[in-house]
Amino acid sequence: MATALLANRPATFLAIGLAVVTDLFMTTRSSVMALAADTILFVVVASVMAEVCHRLTSRTALLHSILTSVPVVTLDGEGRILRITAPAADLIGVAPEDALARPFSLFAPDFDKATLSVVTSGGVLTLPAPGYWLVRRPDGEMIPLTIHASLLSRSVDPERVVLSLGDQRQALAAHDRMRDLMDQLSRRWRLNSMGEMAATLAHELNQPLTAATVYLHAGQTDIARAGPIGDSAGRALDLAKTQLLRAGDIIRRMRELIATGAPEMAEERVSSMIEDLRPLFDLIHQDTGVTISIDVQSFEDHVLADRIQVQQAIANLVRNAVDAVTGRDSGLVRLAGHSLPDMGYEILVEDNGPGIPEDQMDRILQPMMTTKAGGMGLGLSVTRSIVESHDAILVVGRSSLGGAAFSFRLSPVSELEVA
Ligand code: ADP
Repeated sequence: MATALLANRPATFLAIGLAVVTDLFMTTRSSVMALAADTILFVVVASVMAEVCHRLTSRTALLHSILTSVPVVTLDGEGRILRITAPAADLIGVAPEDALARPFSLFAPDFDKATLSVVTSGGVLTLPAPGYWLVRRPDGEMIPLTIHASLLSRSVDPERVVLSLGDQRQALAAHDRMRDLMDQLSRRWRLNSMGEMAATLAHELNQPLTAATVYLHAGQTDIARAGPIGDSAGRALDLAKTQLLRAGDIIRRMRELIATGAPEMAEERVSSMIEDLRPLFDLIHQDTGVTISIDVQSFEDHVLADRIQVQQAIANLVRNAVDAVTGRDSGLVRLAGHSLPDMGYEILVEDNGPGIPEDQMDRILQPMMTTKAGGMGLGLSVTRSIVESHDAILVVGRSSLGGAAFSFRLSPVSELEVA
């Protein structure tokens, strides 16, 4: 039993063998049969006991190695640290021996006596406002943690409370990255849509302004024929013409001011651009219940692109597709991407919605074209401008899923680099 508790199986069997040999030499038996029966009985009983001991010790060792590899702290009823694993001490930023006997609230100020009494009275540990506990390390760094607390039975007093700590730094960093991306996308969206609106206004107003200038000019010519009587009217028309030209100029300048400029091209990986958008798609899925399946080939996906602009274009297409299938049974949006040998990378957004009527296919990309009650009709025209600024075409068609399909290609790195 001692060997089974302290050593491994071969050593235990060696010990049993040695015990049998010693027994053979030191004890005399009445017959060979009695000797054989005794020996067999001994071997069987010893082996069973050894196996039980062995399993118990290996379970304890396994539990010990699991417990020492995760951040766990045990506290007494007063909240003082009685035991702390190396990963937990590492998180808190102190040596395990320095943490012992000190109040846990010294490191996590929010985890005060009141919180401890909630745990010790068997209540549910509610997280502070930001959704995690902040632990202050001696070097001043604040670490966000989740703390799962459980109460030990009184038999293991004085260790009363077990805290299992979870490091939230990565989750928080990912959350910050997502918020940054959302901010960038919405800032860019505002700029893009204002630019698109300004371009549309400039385009729409240009014609009547030019026509009015021409009419004024013709009127001036007629008035000039009337001689000096018409002089003051001619001057007034001159002023009106100047004002019209000024209006045209203002519109042009406004357009230039809002224009987002040339795209900032850099080498990007399509899979990584889309991976960044995943949290956004998760949010859209939570809000609408629409499944967004992502099927993007991650090899040979190096392209030259303006990262935020392309992300904006993809997000617009996915949002539109989700709008088109929202409220339908088993609405599905598929975002797919694959590389085209020597021709770059194709991105496709399709859905199983109603699709786009044949007679609207041409008009759908025009600004201010919308079929939605609160729509502005700018999403697709902004998307088209982004795609075109990447020397590509936004192709509209019918999807094999039954709804609409929008696709565009991004040039491979080498092609644009050469250009
Ligand atoms: P908005 O979303 O504000 O209406 P868009 O320019 O993004 O502006 O879209 C213009 C119109 O194109 C939409 O109102 C809708 O009728 C149509 N459309 C866009 N995407 C889809 C789609 N995936 N399925 C069906 N119709 C679509």
